[in-house]
Amino acid sequence: MKILIRNGTVVNDDGSRNTDVLTDGKLIEAVEPGILPPETCKIVEADGLLVIPGGIDPHTHLEMPVGAIHTADGFDSGGEAALSGGTTTIIDFVNPLRGQSYVEAYEQWMGRAQKATCNYSFHVTVTWFDDQAAEEMRYLSERGGVNSFKHFTTYRDTIMLNQEGMLQSFFHVARLGCLATVHAENDVIITHLQNDLLKKGITHPKGHVLSRPPIAEAEATNRVIALAEVAGVPVYIVHLSCAGALDAVKAAQIRGQEVYAESLCGHLLLDRSVYFNHSREIAARYVMSPPYRSREHRDALWDGIATESIQVIGSDNCTFTQEQRNLGLYDFTRIPNGSPGIEDRLRIIWDQGVRTGRLSRERFVAATSTNAAKIFNMYPRKGVIKPGSDADIVLWDPDKSHSVSAGSHRQAIDYSVFEGYEFIGSPSLTILNGQVVFENGRVNVAAGAGTFVARSPR
Ligand SMILES: [Zn+2]
Repeated sequence: MKILIRNGTVVNDDGSRNTDVLTDGKLIEAVEPGILPPETCKIVEADGLLVIPGGIDPHTHLEMPVGAIHTADGFDSGGEAALSGGTTTIIDFVNPLRGQSYVEAYEQWMGRAQKATCNYSFHVTVTWFDDQAAEEMRYLSERGGVNSFKHFTTYRDTIMLNQEGMLQSFFHVARLGCLATVHAENDVIITHLQNDLLKKGITHPKGHVLSRPPIAEAEATNRVIALAEVAGVPVYIVHLSCAGALDAVKAAQIRGQEVYAESLCGHLLLDRSVYFNHSREIAARYVMSPPYRSREHRDALWDGIATESIQVIGSDNCTFTQEQRNLGLYDFTRIPNGSPGIEDRLRIIWDQGVRTGRLSRERFVAATSTNAAKIFNMYPRKGVIKPGSDADIVLWDPDKSHSVSAGSHRQAIDYSVFEGYEFIGSPSLTILNGQVVFENGRVNVAAGAGTFVARSPR
C-alpha cells in the first residue's frame, strides 16, 4: 500500500525542508509539499517529526560463530532490534575460516540471513590470501554483490593476515575496484602484554583494556594506511577509537589519500572505567576490541565526526550472553569480544551528538546513514529521501525519551551495557521496503522481509 507522510521535516545529509513524502509500496515516489492522497493509501501525520533515511549500520555480527558458540542476536531478533531503533540496513561480515572457500562461507552466511527482518549486505573477511582466494574474491565482487573486504592485523590464531598477505590482498582489492576495510591493532604489543599480565596473575577483565593500549591501535592504523597507499586501494578503518589513530587518518586525508574512518556508538558513550568494576561478571560485559577508551579519546572522536575526518558511526553489534561472557571470567583473554548497539545507535548519536550541539541534524543523518551508503556504493538507492530511492524511512521524534533496560530491549542478551541510560530522541515509526514495520512501540515484520542489498564495485 502507498504511504503518504504529511508535514514532516525531511532531513537529508545536504539540507532539511518541510514537505510531504509519498511511497509507492516499495520506492519513494514523490517528495514535495501538498501531495494529494491517492485513493488507497495510509496517511501518516508527521508534524513535529523528522523524516530521515533509514539508518545503515555497516558493522554488525549477527549469528556469528566463534569457536563453539555464536553471537546471541540472529538476523531475525537483531533485525527487529535494528528496526525499532531506526536502522533498516546492516552490512554484516562473512568470516571464512583460514583456508575455507570464501564462496562457501558466503553461502553459509547467506543461508543464515534468509530469516533477516531488516535489509542486509555483506563484507567478506580476507583470512588467507593466495591465487584461489584472489579468484574467489573476484567472483564475489562480480557475482556476489560484495565490494568491501576486511582485514585483521590481530587475532594471530584465527583471522589475522600477515603484512605480506595484506599488501597482496590490498593490491588485488584495488584491481577489483573494491574497498579494503581493516581492524587495526598491533598484535605483537597485545600478545606480549596479555601474556605479561597473566603471568603477573592479572586475570580480571581489566586485563583486556590494559593489554590493548591506544598506541597499539595508532601504530597499526599508520601501518595499514601506508600499505594502502602503496597498493593504491581506498581503505576504511573500522571502529577507530583513539586520538592517535585519528591523527593517522587525518594526516592521510590531508595528503589526499582515500581513507575513511568509522567509530562506534559505544565508544562515543562509555569509557574505560567500566573495566575496573570489582565484579568480574559486570566488567566482562564490556569486553570488546578496541576497548572503551578514556574521555580524551572520546572527545577526539566527537571532534573527528564533527569535522568529517570520521565519516561513519556503526555499532559493531556482537552480542554474547552473560553465560558466554563468563567463559573468560578468570582469564580475560578468553572472554568473547563484542558489544551491542544495533538497537540504540541512532538514539545515542542523537542524544549525545545533536542535543549537545556537537552535530547538526544533517551530520547526524550523514554519519548514521548517507555516508555509509556512499562509501559502500548503495547511494542513492539507500541513504537519502528522494524520488526513486528505496522506501526505507524513519520518522524521528526528537523529543521522545527512551530508557534502556535489559528487561525491555529487543536484543537477545540478558544485560545491557547501556543499562539505565535515558536517551532523548527516538524513532516513532520505521518503514522498510515500503512497509510499516515499527509503529506505536511495536515491531511487526515477517522473518525474511529483509532483502539482500548487492553492492557492485565502484
Ligand atoms: Zn566487528
